[in-house]
Amino acid sequence: MPRSRRMLISAGPTHEPIDAVRYIGNRSSGRMGIALAEAARDAGWEVTLLLGPVALPPPLDVRTYSFETAAELEALLAEHFPACDVLIMAAAVADYRPRAACVSKLPRTEGPLLLELEPTPDLVARCAARKRPDQRIIGFALEEPGVLAERAREKLRRKGLDAIVANPLSAMGATHVAATLFTADGSVIRMPEAAGAPGRAGDSRFCAAVSKEDFARWLVAWIEGRQ
Ligand code: C5P
Repeated sequence: MPRSRRMLISAGPTHEPIDAVRYIGNRSSGRMGIALAEAARDAGWEVTLLLGPVALPPPLDVRTYSFETAAELEALLAEHFPACDVLIMAAAVADYRPRAACVSKLPRTEGPLLLELEPTPDLVARCAARKRPDQRIIGFALEEPGVLAERAREKLRRKGLDAIVANPLSAMGATHVAATLFTADGSVIRMPEAAGAPGRAGDSRFCAAVSKEDFARWLVAWIEGRQ
């Protein structure tokens, strides 16, 4: 039985307003984070889900808080991160947002429209910077396959995470993933084909892609095995 039982999970995209009716968003469906919340709930964790604007229904019997923007997610993390034992940041947070959203609807004009964007704060890095030694943080990296491993390792280090799930771009909005887990102690772990004990890359049992639900159950079991 693991010692820690409170898991905080973020899921889905952010919508960053351009004006009263338009926003900058991304194609994240929230499926991975919702699957993680369900897997953790079923494994007996006390789960809090921070859920962005998605079409999928929230999981049953999971305390869920909604956000639209990175700023709203930042406020929810400030409120809920201190009480969690494990944070899984599966949300696809915008890296840039309009510097100033227009409060009314921008009118159409003949000329081009220039939007000034500002970087959003790196929310998971901020959590990692203030985490207690007993807290664990897992992030996600979505990249082109050719640069996936290198960028995932770089993000793991730069953001100060305990582990990062590396997904190829095709994972966004999809039902299946071919994910690899990179850990701060240098391990590279891929999910075995049959859900069960975590294994190591190079083992012939590893498959190319699994459902997000299977991956979620595997990741929760891996977290429990590490505690
Ligand atoms: O840098 P990149 O957006 O690829 O990093 C992905 C990871 O960082 C995800 O875990 C995501 O939730 C998190 N992130 C964040 N704040 C941002 C951008 C990404 O916490 N502004």
